[in-house]
Amino acid sequence: MIIRKLFKFENAHIVRGCSTQRCSENIHGHSYKVEVLLESNYLDHGQMVYDFGLMKRSIKTMIDAFDHAITLWNGDDPEYTVQMKRFSHRWIELPVSPSAEQFARVIYLIVERILVCTQMRNGERDVQLHSVIVHETETGYAQAFGEDAHSERMGKITLSEICFSKQVCDEWYDPKLWGKLLAHDTLVNPKKI
Ligand SMILES: [Zn+2]
Repeated sequence: MIIRKLFKFENAHIVRGCSTQRCSENIHGHSYKVEVLLESNYLDHGQMVYDFGLMKRSIKTMIDAFDHAITLWNGDDPEYTVQMKRFSHRWIELPVSPSAEQFARVIYLIVERILVCTQMRNGERDVQLHSVIVHETETGYAQAFGEDAHSERMGKITLSEICFSKQVCDEWYDPKLWGKLLAHDTLVNPKKI
C-alpha cells in the first residue's frame, strides 16, 4: 500500500542551462508542492502504514527548510552565490542545479535518511520511501525513485554537500538536526506529537 503526504514551500532559484532565458538568467520563484509517498506491505498498531502525524516533525522540518529561501547550486558563479548568501539569509546550497528534477532527488535522499534514522515506535514495519514528487508549477512535476536519487548519471548527490544557512537551521526544533542526520544519529519518533 502507498500513502502520500503533501508539503508546500515557496522558493527562489535560477536554473542554469535551462532552454528559456527567463529561467536560466533570472532569479524567480515557484510555489512548490512536494508529495512524499511511503510504501509498506504491513500496517502499524493504528492500522496505518505510517501515521501522518509523525511526518510533521523531521520530514516537515526539513522540507520546510526550503520555504522562503533561495536555493543555490555550488557549481554556479561564485560571484553570484557569495552575493546571494550576503543579502539573503535563508539559503540552501546543493551540489546540483535546483531544477524540479534535482529537488525531487534531493528531497528523496533527505527523507530516506530521516527514515533510516527514525526509531519506529508504533509497530510500523518495512516502511519504504516509494518516491518523491515535486510540482514546480500547476501543470508539471518531477518524480524521483530510489534509482534516480542515487543515480550518478544525473549528478552525484552527497548529503554532506547540501548546506543549509544558519538562519534556516536556527528555526528548526533542533538547530543541529541536519548534522545529526548526516551523522546517522537515531531520531526518536514519539507516538504523539
Ligand atoms: Zn524556475
